[in-house]
Amino acid sequence: MANTIARKSPRPARGGKPDESFDIIIAGGGATGLAAACFAGWLGNKVLVLEKAAEVGGTALKAAFWYWVPNNEPMKALGIVDTREDFLRYVARISRPEAYDPNHPRSGMSEWEYEACAAVYDNASKATELLHAKGALEYRHCAGVPDYWAELPENKAPTGRVLVTRQARDSMSDGGVHAVRTMAEAARKAGADIRTSHRVQRVIMDDNGRVAGVEVDDAEGRMRRFAARKAVIFATGGFTHDADLRRNFLGAPVKGGCAAITNEGDFVHIGTAAGAQLRNMNHAWMCPVVFEKVVNKDPDLIGTFSPSGDSMIYVDRHGNRVTNEKLAYNEAAQAFFKWDAAKSEYPNLVLFAIWDQRSQENSASDEYGRFIVPKGADKRHVIKGNTWQELADNIGKRLKRYASETGGIELAPAFVKNLKKTVPRFNGFARAGRDADFHRGERPVELLFNGPTAAKAGKNPTMFPIGGKGPYYAALMTGGNLDTKGGPATNPNGQVLDALGEVIPGLYGVGNCVASASGRAYWAGGGTLGPFIAFAYLAANAASAEPGRETSRKRDAA
Ligand SMILES: Cc1cc2nc3c(=O)[nH]c(=O)nc-3n(C[C@H](O)[C@H](O)[C@H](O)COP(=O)(O)OP(=O)(O)OC[C@H]3O[C@@H](n4cnc5c(N)ncnc54)[C@H](O)[C@@H]3O)c2cc1C
Repeated sequence: MANTIARKSPRPARGGKPDESFDIIIAGGGATGLAAACFAGWLGNKVLVLEKAAEVGGTALKAAFWYWVPNNEPMKALGIVDTREDFLRYVARISRPEAYDPNHPRSGMSEWEYEACAAVYDNASKATELLHAKGALEYRHCAGVPDYWAELPENKAPTGRVLVTRQARDSMSDGGVHAVRTMAEAARKAGADIRTSHRVQRVIMDDNGRVAGVEVDDAEGRMRRFAARKAVIFATGGFTHDADLRRNFLGAPVKGGCAAITNEGDFVHIGTAAGAQLRNMNHAWMCPVVFEKVVNKDPDLIGTFSPSGDSMIYVDRHGNRVTNEKLAYNEAAQAFFKWDAAKSEYPNLVLFAIWDQRSQENSASDEYGRFIVPKGADKRHVIKGNTWQELADNIGKRLKRYASETGGIELAPAFVKNLKKTVPRFNGFARAGRDADFHRGERPVELLFNGPTAAKAGKNPTMFPIGGKGPYYAALMTGGNLDTKGGPATNPNGQVLDALGEVIPGLYGVGNCVASASGRAYWAGGGTLGPFIAFAYLAANAASAEPGRETSRKRDAA
């Protein structure tokens, strides 16, 4: 849903008579904001949810809504052991591999990272069970789904941590719409007032430096002031759609991503203006994306979580394979950002997914952001050619259209000549069942995301020889993100920290609008939403326990 309310100054307001008063105000009605609204409402608070878009849901509306919950109840029922120590060792190993030390008391994580990850272990299941029991978010257990690093010796519970919305399809691709609906219904039932087309512009600070409310613009251009007796919780998503923040903070030339189009980093501005310190701004939840969709800012963009097709490869502008196409999305995206120091360029900024008629017939699907799409789906990104030469000519024409977005990338003169060597080499690997160049299909997660294939699969189900005859197909691919994972730093209760590490009274943040302790890692499917549900629970409880403003004033006076 497009954002129509312009950003204004984030400078905190001081004083001013409020239009209305609430106990807890939640900015952002996506996954985390709605979960927080449920928890805060159930604790007896008068809650206001302010959502910038014309509908609630945010990025969560697109999400498959897997959620990763360590030591969850169904795991316990199945006898799967997932101890706190083992869980923390696993997350430490992949979040900060450069610091990982199994003999260190925090496995090499900083205190801040360790406390956040421990809070996930201690609270995700509790929070999930509460949402489930109250009918706000019912789940089913995905016992066989592996973590993204299931094979690491540090992962002692490689399967069993993933839950999905109960109503999701068998393919588990559409849980988000159901989750948003049921959580919004439950929040309203718990008394939460949910207002859409309300953009939070800044916080209101009282004379003691405490956050006491927010100022908001609505779709009619009216400014409203809402007081929060206890706390304001931000859940406004990341900064995917603020090109300036992306350019300044992400360590790679990311063209954009598939977060809700209204996720413009508002809390980076509002939070820093209120004195917050920023953390982990260099990280994002990464995934390959169809290049043309991301540069054309397609609001329906879904990241390529599952690059389907067995007779399918990615090649660079020279016609050579450069990566394992089936890596899990966060890792697959890294290939696009390889830096060529000698040439001072990103040689893989655009790669070309190439497939044959077999994959077109057997692997087309409109789920999980796949680029091989069925009849009737949007196929403007698909380039076709009856021969390799014709395909290359058509790719060349398409690249010209986007020269200003790629730094002028063109196919190398030897593209077709090289491709004619690349394809037989890949076909040999496919016949042998072993990719000697990039080890495609050797890890459990690559099989999980292989996507649909023909019944007659190869020895390695991720690979099948590419046909000797056209038509052939291609799509331009680049690296993007689901959303970013940096922002104001918080403690595990979601209380925002200032430059000195002190709590800014009354100000909370949860979800992608605040810094994630996951560093560069994507722990598993559901690795954002499981932890966010835990943090929404903790923040709602801590905010609820804040003394109301009247009470604190009386105490100050005493
Ligand atoms: C295609 C896709 C599939 C995914 N699948 C999964 C999955 O299966 N499992 C998983 O764990 N993660 C998944 N994710 C990621 C997951 O959806 C996000 O991490 C999650 O939704 C983030 O929750 P959030 O509440 O922080 O942000 P969002 O859900 O994006 O919500 C933020 C909300 O804040 C609103 N907002 C922004 N600024 C303001 C403002 N100033 N005032 C008021 N409101 C504001 C936005 O409009 C938005 O509605 C997926 C993402 C995508 C794109």
